[in-house]
Amino acid sequence: MFFDRIDAAPADPILGLNEAFKKDTRANKTNLGVGVYQNNEGKTVILDCVKEAEKILLEKEETKSYLPITGLPEFGRLARELIFGKDSEFVDGGKAVSCHCPGGTGALRIGADFIHQQNIASTIWISDPTWANHYQIATSAGLKFERYPYYDRANHNLAFDRMIETLSQAKEGDVVLLHACCHNPTGIDPTHEQWEIIAKFLAEKKLLPFIDFAYQGFGHGIEEDAFGVRTIAKYNPEFLIASSFSKNFGLYSERSGVLTVVSADVETAVKVMSQVKIAVRTAISNPPAHGEKIVTTVLSDPTLRAKWEDELKGMRERISKMRVLLSHKLKDAGAGDFDFITEQNGMFSFSGLDKDQIEALKRDFGIYAVASGRICVAGINSNNIDSIVEAITAVVK
Ligand code: PMP
Repeated sequence: MFFDRIDAAPADPILGLNEAFKKDTRANKTNLGVGVYQNNEGKTVILDCVKEAEKILLEKEETKSYLPITGLPEFGRLARELIFGKDSEFVDGGKAVSCHCPGGTGALRIGADFIHQQNIASTIWISDPTWANHYQIATSAGLKFERYPYYDRANHNLAFDRMIETLSQAKEGDVVLLHACCHNPTGIDPTHEQWEIIAKFLAEKKLLPFIDFAYQGFGHGIEEDAFGVRTIAKYNPEFLIASSFSKNFGLYSERSGVLTVVSADVETAVKVMSQVKIAVRTAISNPPAHGEKIVTTVLSDPTLRAKWEDELKGMRERISKMRVLLSHKLKDAGAGDFDFITEQNGMFSFSGLDKDQIEALKRDFGIYAVASGRICVAGINSNNIDSIVEAITAVVK
C-alpha cells in the first residue's frame, strides 16, 4: 500500500467556512468570509466590459491552439502599462519582462520557482498576517520563510517601526514579499512616506522586493494603487511583481495573472525571461488563454477600457460606501469606535473582533467571518448591513 499512511490535511480555514455556510439553513445567513466582490444584491456578476469582450472573441477567435509559453506579448505590455503607467521606461524598454500565469497565485508560484531554481535566494520575508497561501507557496517552491510584523492590533494600523526593525535582521539577498495595496487580510497599506522609506531601505539593505499586486484599482484607483510599486521601482533596480486580474476584472475562475520581472539592464532581462520560461514550461507548459484574451481585448479598445474603468470605480466606491456606513451605524448603535474601518483599503477589513466574538456571530446570527477577525466588506450591502450592525453590537457588548 502506498497511500494508507497519508494524514488528512487540515481544513482550509476559509474554504471550510464556505462549507459550513452552505450547510447553514438560516434564511438570513451572511457570508463575510469569501474573498470575492459582490454587488449590492450579493451577487458576483460578470462585468459588462468582459461580456462584450467575450462576444467579440466568440466571433473573431479562430484557434484554440497553444499560446506562447509566456502568453501574448501584447497582454504583457498592457499589464506593464497598468503597473508602471503608460509613459514608464518599463513598458517597452526591455528591462521588464512579463509572463502570463494562471492567476496571481500562478504568478507568485512561478516567481518563487524562478527564485529557487536560479539560487537567487533561499529566504523570503512575509508579512504577519498575510494571505495564508503565501506561506504555502513559498515552501512548496523550496523557499524558507520568515515573518515580519505588520499589524498593530492596539491602534488598528501598520506596525511600521516593528516591520522595519524586524526586516533589519534580513540577510543581504533575501526576498521581501510586499502587498502593493489593499493588504489582505488587514486592509492596511503603508502611507506614501512609508513606501518611500521601505523602498530606500530595501535598496540599501540589498533585499529583493517581490510585490503581490492582487487588487489594483480596489483601493484608491488604478494609478493611485500603483504608488508603492512605482516607488519601489524608483530605488530598486531589480524586483518581481505578481499581478492578478481576478478581482479588478472579476475573472476569478479564468485564472489570469502576470509575473513581471524587472532587471537592471536589457541583456539580463533577456536571460531572466529564458529562465522564467523554463519555470513555466515545467509547471504548466503554457498558460490558459481565455482570461488573457478578455483582458487584452478590453484594455486595447478605448470604449471597452473606459467601461472597465467605470465598472472598477463602481466596485471600489461601493465598498468604500459600505465602510463608511458600517462605521457610522456601529457608532450609532453604541458598539464603539470603528472609524478605522474607513481608513482601510480594498475588499477586506480587520474588524478587531476576536475569535470568540467571530464564533458568536456565526452561532447566534448566521454571520460567517474568518476567525482572525477579517471581514469581507464587499459582502456587505444595503439589505444586510442593519442585521450585521445589530449582530456586531450584540457580540461586542
Ligand atoms: N494575493 C493576494 C493577497 C490575494 O488575496 C489573492 C486572492 N485571494 C491572490 C494573491 C491570488 O489571486 P488569484 O485568484 O488571482 O490567484
